[in-house]
Amino acid sequence: MRVIFFSAKAYDQQFFNAANEKFGFTIKFLEAPLTKSTAVLAKGYNVACVFVNDLISADELQELANQGVGLIALRCAGYNNIDLKAAQELGIKVVRVPAYSPYSVAEHTIALILTLNRKTHRAYNLVKEGNFSLNGLLGFDLHNKTVGLIGLGKIGLCTARILKGFGCRVLGYDIAEPKEAASIGIEFTTPDDLYAQSDIVSLHCPLTPGTYHIINPDSIKKMKKGVMLINTSRGALIDTKAVIEGLKHEHISYLGLDVYEEESDLFFEDLSNKVIQDDVFMRLLSFNNVLITGHQAFFTSNALQNIAEITLQNIEDYKNKLELKNEIVCS
Ligand code: NAD
Repeated sequence: MRVIFFSAKAYDQQFFNAANEKFGFTIKFLEAPLTKSTAVLAKGYNVACVFVNDLISADELQELANQGVGLIALRCAGYNNIDLKAAQELGIKVVRVPAYSPYSVAEHTIALILTLNRKTHRAYNLVKEGNFSLNGLLGFDLHNKTVGLIGLGKIGLCTARILKGFGCRVLGYDIAEPKEAASIGIEFTTPDDLYAQSDIVSLHCPLTPGTYHIINPDSIKKMKKGVMLINTSRGALIDTKAVIEGLKHEHISYLGLDVYEEESDLFFEDLSNKVIQDDVFMRLLSFNNVLITGHQAFFTSNALQNIAEITLQNIEDYKNKLELKNEIVCS
């Protein structure tokens, strides 16, 4: 098997090279993202391995098919960035890593909540400058607060378990109520009730046509004044301009984001010497009650090891013509 990686970083190389000792595939790592022009570099490779911000539309797929690629291996869980119908029509199979560490994302969600609340990021800088005043650092007890989780899959349930440990009341909504919800102590409810009752709303559903901009002017209006909103799932779940209005009117008092709807132009790159052209993103950064991380929730050594091992096992199964248990098929 010959596998070409797009958008590969040094850490991808480290974990995939280690995992590949068991498989022995020929691997080429490209730093460049997958585009119609970089797709030609896949000539002679059977498998293209891509990440969350590689846009794999019909054009890229056609070019990959022209070069002989028969499998797209997503080294992530979400698959909103690939045109599955076009892949199917071209006879290209698509696999992903459905679960690698729900703990990594759930724990980062809690990190955002705690940091926004207790302002440890600001305290760190103040103390370094010899400023020990507590002005501006007032937080609240998480104990007894109501947290509403939209999406009760692997990450949503893991987040719920942690929040129960803090003594929170946890409300949840999903298109299907998971059987574990009641035993964890999640009160399953409707989105409107969740918005009305929650002090903190956290998103854990995938990006689909049905969840695009689920946080919009209407849903924000239904939330408590002073709500904390957290998104560690996919950027386009949130209508960013509506959230900025919510922040300006102080309806939203805290915003924690690990994802952003236009992140593909920004995240995973060092742009510290460049002028950022995205005015919406820069407006978000101007609020001191907004905390943004650059899609790092998954980024633990445990998760990267699992991603590498599962991705290469997916490719091994494809090589051996076995059933692809992590295949995504067009519905
Ligand atoms: P999962 O498939 O286990 O759970 C997703 C849940 O969302 C399912 O229970 C599903 O029924 C539910 N859902 C679907 N549509 C819904 C809707 N309209 N309203 C409410 N719920 C709905 O996935 P997971 O592993 O828990 O991951 C959740 C999301 O987290 C992924 O889709 C991905 O976008 C995101 N993610 C982010 C990172 C990161 O680094 N920030 C890493 C991994 C995953």
